[in-house]
Amino acid sequence: MNKYTIDLANTCLGCKKPSCEKGCPVNTPIAEMIRLFLSGEIRTAGQMLFDNNPLSIICSLVCPHEKHCEGHCVLNKKKTAVSVGSIENYISDFYMHDTQFKKPEHNGHNIAIIGSGPAGIALAFILASKGYGITMYDSHDKIGGVLRQGIPDFRLNKNILDKLIEKLKQLGVIIRPNIMIGKNITIDDLFRDGFKAVFLSTGVWSPKKLGIKGESLGHVHFAIDYLKNPSVYDLGKKVVVLGAGNVAMDVARTAVRNGVKEVVIMYRKGEENIPAEKHEVDCAKIDGVKFDFYKEPLEFNDKGIFYQTTDGTDEKGFIETDSIFISISQNPNDIIVKNNKDISVDEKGLLSTDENGMTSRVGVFASGDVVTGARTVVEAVAFSKKVAVSIEEYIDNL
Ligand SMILES: Cc1cc2nc3c(=O)[nH]c(=O)nc-3n(C[C@H](O)[C@H](O)[C@H](O)COP(=O)(O)OP(=O)(O)OC[C@H]3O[C@@H](n4cnc5c(N)ncnc54)[C@H](O)[C@@H]3O)c2cc1C
Repeated sequence: MNKYTIDLANTCLGCKKPSCEKGCPVNTPIAEMIRLFLSGEIRTAGQMLFDNNPLSIICSLVCPHEKHCEGHCVLNKKKTAVSVGSIENYISDFYMHDTQFKKPEHNGHNIAIIGSGPAGIALAFILASKGYGITMYDSHDKIGGVLRQGIPDFRLNKNILDKLIEKLKQLGVIIRPNIMIGKNITIDDLFRDGFKAVFLSTGVWSPKKLGIKGESLGHVHFAIDYLKNPSVYDLGKKVVVLGAGNVAMDVARTAVRNGVKEVVIMYRKGEENIPAEKHEVDCAKIDGVKFDFYKEPLEFNDKGIFYQTTDGTDEKGFIETDSIFISISQNPNDIIVKNNKDISVDEKGLLSTDENGMTSRVGVFASGDVVTGARTVVEAVAFSKKVAVSIEEYIDNL
């Protein structure tokens, strides 16, 4: 047993009305988790966490805890919030290694899940545990969505995802990798082949572009593309990252770890406006990433970036760099919407659903980033939990 984790758990006051739980989008039963853990009932604690959030092990590592549970801890008044994430991680890691799942009896209903990121995995766990036959499709070779193709290894060890695959398979989930659903295999095909409901959890994978000259050059890359496989890029000695969200921090820190000597984040606003979480920015600074504020790009050439200042001085200048990353958010790709009828989207291309996650097409549900726009893992899980209930109701009424 890890003494450090026990010490952390012992800092919890065991509040009668734990504000940490209210701050969590999936209302993790934190006080009970800590009580069970300290009284030697780690298996019960692990089961409880998994039942509430099948991605507890992931959320324990990548959630913005300072915004949710830890940010709501009463001990913040003394600047010593309980380290909820570390305790949850210890318990959920134990549970995932200790527990063997069993395939339940098939209830006669099959559901197709398109997209194997957090929204899809959460739904697969919830409904497979109840006996639904689940087939999960993904355009990538391995499941996980952003967890696999976006969040760098130094923040999320991919062995954890392999553990999740093992557990999904134990529950009978069928995984069909390397297939882009939408054009070749359509939603009509899925209904024809007996799926009672289709769940779209396809995320946001189409990088927004700046629309300026030079954006197609060989040393200009989109952040989300780079993170899929950083080792294939030859970036040179200096890199400038345009944008200052969490993805920009991940790109910058990954470039540092891949040997780039100078990594600069260029941002059109000031430090106080940085959209990334504070701890992500702090980590980037510790890793040696530099920041350059109040500049926006005008044009790229082979040697670097023409920019102008945005602090009111309206100066123009040029920054030399070997490579450039554009990190200004992503939109959904439209392969499903374009090639399948009756699926409505909003002006950003995000899927429109009712409050229960049903799209404009009967029997087709959706959750995660493809509905909400880029958010977080725990928010995708919270949404999928709600949609799981409405898919069950829908199938019951067929
Ligand atoms: C670099 C990066 C770092 C992040 N870091 C954090 C973090 O630290 N903490 C946090 O909480 N959140 C983080 N996020 C946000 C979080 O990862 C997302 O909110 C979450 O992954 C959304 O889950 P999802 O299931 O909706 O979509 P995704 O994770 O995007 O998964 C969608 C999957 O669908 C597949 N797909 C798409 N179209 C099709 C199709 N037509 N057919 C078949 N498959 C398809 C894609 O290949 C992908 O595997 C980060 C995001 C990025 C980009």
